[in-house]
Amino acid sequence: MSESVKVFMGGTFDPIHNGHLRTALEIQQWLGVKQVTLMPSKAPVHRKSPERSGQQRLDMVRLAVADEPALIADEREVISAAASYTVLTLESFRRELGAQAPICMILGMDAYLSLPQWDRWLELLQLCHIVVVKRPGWIYEPCEQMQHISNEHEIDDVDVLLQKPAGHVIFRELTPLGISATQIRELIRGGHSPRYLLPDAVWDYIKQNRLYNFEQHNEGK
Ligand code: ATP
Repeated sequence: MSESVKVFMGGTFDPIHNGHLRTALEIQQWLGVKQVTLMPSKAPVHRKSPERSGQQRLDMVRLAVADEPALIADEREVISAAASYTVLTLESFRRELGAQAPICMILGMDAYLSLPQWDRWLELLQLCHIVVVKRPGWIYEPCEQMQHISNEHEIDDVDVLLQKPAGHVIFRELTPLGISATQIRELIRGGHSPRYLLPDAVWDYIKQNRLYNFEQHNEGK
């Protein structure tokens, strides 16, 4: 089991759900690393802001991973004074881990295809590898820039990935779970339970804190 490889998955996690968790766990097992870090963002600049505070989304991530030693929450983006930029987070990992440690960033297909909208996106592959996870509902239809990135950087040998610090893209097909946070928020708003799409502890937190307009629609459930 490799302990010197950093593997992380960022996101709004608004709220965290089983699609995120199962993805992180299957990647941890596939790469043979000790842990995968789940990192809620503060306020993403390339998409509409999350509905709940960073602290609440971090609380939900912590609850979701509390009994799973292979997954860990990282608070750095939420507690940072600055907006969340993945490139800055990667630079902070590099400062901690040194130039030679492999760093892998897990991205769903939707996030991968949107990379040209990210700040300093061309620098990302100088700082990490990208593990792209196929996601139900998202087919691989890259823009010209992303097609070029895939052509230049894609590999299919995971051992190569773990021998170098950064620079490769690898695609991985996992158990397909067509769950999204949007779907969960809509279920709650519509007065329906999202149970079994996310951990019970996270659903309990949503109810206790009356998130996603729970109080207006779900009284008594
Ligand atoms: P929203 O519906 O609010 O856009 P989301 O469910 O896509 O949220 P994010 O927090 O935006 O969740 O996603 C964080 C990361 O997890 C992204 O890289 C995203 O592609 C990936 N991801 C989200 N849901 C899944 C899923 N069901 N399977 C695989 N990857 C996923």
